[in-house]
Amino acid sequence: MDIETKLVQIGNRREKETGAISFPVTFSTAFLHPALGESTGFDYIRTKNPTRTVLEEAIAEIEGGDRGFAMSSGMAAIHVIMGLFKPGDHIIASLDLYGGTYRLFEQVWKSYGLTFSYVNLRSGSDLQDHLLPETTAVFIETPTNPMMITADISSIASVAKKQGVLTIVDNTFLSPYYQKPILEGADISFHSATKYLGGHNDVLAGLIVSNGQELSDRLFFLQNSIGAVLGPMDSWLLIRGMKTLALRMERHTENAKRIVSFLKEHPLITDVLYAGLGGMVSFRVKDAALVPGILRHLRVISFAESLGGVESLLTYPAVQTHADVPKEVRDSVGVCDRLLRFSVGVEHAQDLVEDLRCAIEASELQLRTGEV
Ligand SMILES: *Cc1c(COP(=O)(O)O)cnc(C)c1O
Repeated sequence: MDIETKLVQIGNRREKETGAISFPVTFSTAFLHPALGESTGFDYIRTKNPTRTVLEEAIAEIEGGDRGFAMSSGMAAIHVIMGLFKPGDHIIASLDLYGGTYRLFEQVWKSYGLTFSYVNLRSGSDLQDHLLPETTAVFIETPTNPMMITADISSIASVAKKQGVLTIVDNTFLSPYYQKPILEGADISFHSATKYLGGHNDVLAGLIVSNGQELSDRLFFLQNSIGAVLGPMDSWLLIRGMKTLALRMERHTENAKRIVSFLKEHPLITDVLYAGLGGMVSFRVKDAALVPGILRHLRVISFAESLGGVESLLTYPAVQTHADVPKEVRDSVGVCDRLLRFSVGVEHAQDLVEDLRCAIEASELQLRTGEV
């Protein structure tokens, strides 16, 4: 079955009693034990909940993994994954990591004795050069945020595997519609499902997919022990959003390509960063002084911090998503004060192009004449 079909059919034909097409939300926190030592398969909501189970099985199947885990946010998903490690372990991570992940590593996990190296990770040889005897995992974001640098997951995973190093991939930006890390050799793939999987800027969630029985069992233990699981209503919202993922991703890509060609031609834009697929486009304006005017003059696109939803959002990474990354580090990876990140929505492409054109021109005029 194709991914389009799997996505649309999530939860359908699962509720035998009524035949509900949309799988119901079960709010119950407790489940009846038929007798001593017997269970319906559900005992207590944190361990397992019917609506969450449908979602977890769906993401595992869609990404070709053995088991799925739904958490209360992308950060909660990363926290659970980090529970696999112990003091002294060394982790090699992509250089321009999502700001929140960098903050969790540097300001939380470092104090528990984990060490991190941030490396320009494009292929297995980049990993090879930085491996230490105590390296236990490689943590990849591809394409990276907001620089859109892509990494070759299969080449990195094959080097990692030979050394007994786990490969973990943040698959938020491309979603399983365009990228299935487990099928490329990764051990763990995860998402901020708040972004493309949810797709409507209305649910906070994280999803993890694991490969292999032992790893899956450890992650299940951590999910249940840590307890930052996704609630039934949010699980249902996420299932509903995921049903249209294929349609949305096609449109995001189509619109992003239109935006890229517009920006590449514009004299006030110096560079455009795009991975070739998906809806994320970063670009640099000629002068940082243009940024406040552009953000103020937008009428359709919203100046807001998230990504991956149907509504177009523009972010200023240096002051928003990457505020917790030190300026020297930000500058060294290219997250300068001229960089804007555009999560291209599914509106009509021409309306988005016009909105950007007008905002850029109004801002430039304002700079030139000093008028507001
Ligand atoms: C948003 C995001 C996260 C964090 O996810 P939350 O759902 O906000 O907790 C992690 N990685 C990437 C690439 C993100 O965009």
